[in-house]
Amino acid sequence: MNLTLYLTENCNLRCSYCTREKHAQDMSRETVEKAVELAFSRGKNAGICFFGGEPLLKKDLIYYALELADERSRQTGIPFLSKITTNGTLIDEEFASMAKRANMQIGFSFDGTMQDDCRRTKEGGATFDLMVDKARLLMEHGCDTVAMCVASPEACGKLFESVKLVHDLGFPQMIINPAYGDKVTWTDETFEVLRGQFDQIADYMMELYQKGDKFKVAPLHNKISELIKGINPSKYCHLGIRQLAVSWDGNLYPCTSFLDKPEWYLGSVYEGIDETRRLEMAKRCFTPSPCKDCDLSARCTNSCGCANILNTGSPDMIAPVQCEYERMVISLADRLGDEMYAMGDQRFIDFMGL
Ligand code: SF4
Ligand code: SF4
Repeated sequence: MNLTLYLTENCNLRCSYCTREKHAQDMSRETVEKAVELAFSRGKNAGICFFGGEPLLKKDLIYYALELADERSRQTGIPFLSKITTNGTLIDEEFASMAKRANMQIGFSFDGTMQDDCRRTKEGGATFDLMVDKARLLMEHGCDTVAMCVASPEACGKLFESVKLVHDLGFPQMIINPAYGDKVTWTDETFEVLRGQFDQIADYMMELYQKGDKFKVAPLHNKISELIKGINPSKYCHLGIRQLAVSWDGNLYPCTSFLDKPEWYLGSVYEGIDETRRLEMAKRCFTPSPCKDCDLSARCTNSCGCANILNTGSPDMIAPVQCEYERMVISLADRLGDEMYAMGDQRFIDFMGL
């Protein structure tokens, strides 16, 4: 099964939109051992995503977990996959080499030219130059890396140039998310700026596509491929079913946005999964009521419980800005998909990986 390990509550950055409290609480080696056991205890695959706070503050635990998982995988024949979501600042040669060897998928949180607007150190220091160096290191090692970019209302006027920078650094793909949560306020004006930036990004994707460049930007690329493949993105979020999050002290929750919320507690790595609560959760419908009759409901991530919790405090309520954002990217993706398809179906099939 897939587990997300919250290795530490601590972080060396203080991003302006971050919703997590920072504490000096780290996972113990014993909890890591129990989590690896749980990951291999059910299902045909085992997966661990290292998360935090900043997980690379606990590199020793990452290397320990990988060693245990490797041994367990050899003993059981169960394939193992590792991932990490990191702010990237602590990546070094040793980590990059290990990540390449282990085929680790790296989510590299990098806001491009918006980095210093929002993602600063505890002391308020800039991180942009450091992050460009770290990005180059990962590219040199050929690590499987996706740049994860958060567009905040204050900085989103630089989103398009950030996308170009990420492309120029050699990343094969990037994911854009708007900043959400109680530290962020979108206004009509800032949302219009975001919309203008996305227009330019769609044009840029078309320009690259015409040149045969396979750079992909989510959510635009995803919205096109999901439509063609008949995938409903609102079904991605199966709270507590597809994966579980493990807090620093070994408790289990459906997702990292629910850590420390007692009403979402699903057991612990020591006592096992509370199957009754897990099944009750699986049966609940998290589709927000305004979405039930919407024509776009099969193309929208409206049922992402963790995004909804961040915005509205409830997993089954959607904030107007999320709805507006989904409508914007779906409409742009449709325009882009039509333009790409018009250039020939075989090229389109190859690009979409059909
Ligand atoms: S790097 Fe992540 S955990 Fe750390 S402050 Fe930024 S958003 Fe929060
Ligand atoms: S577009 Fe808005 S109303 Fe429609 S499914 Fe998405 S969030 Fe719900």
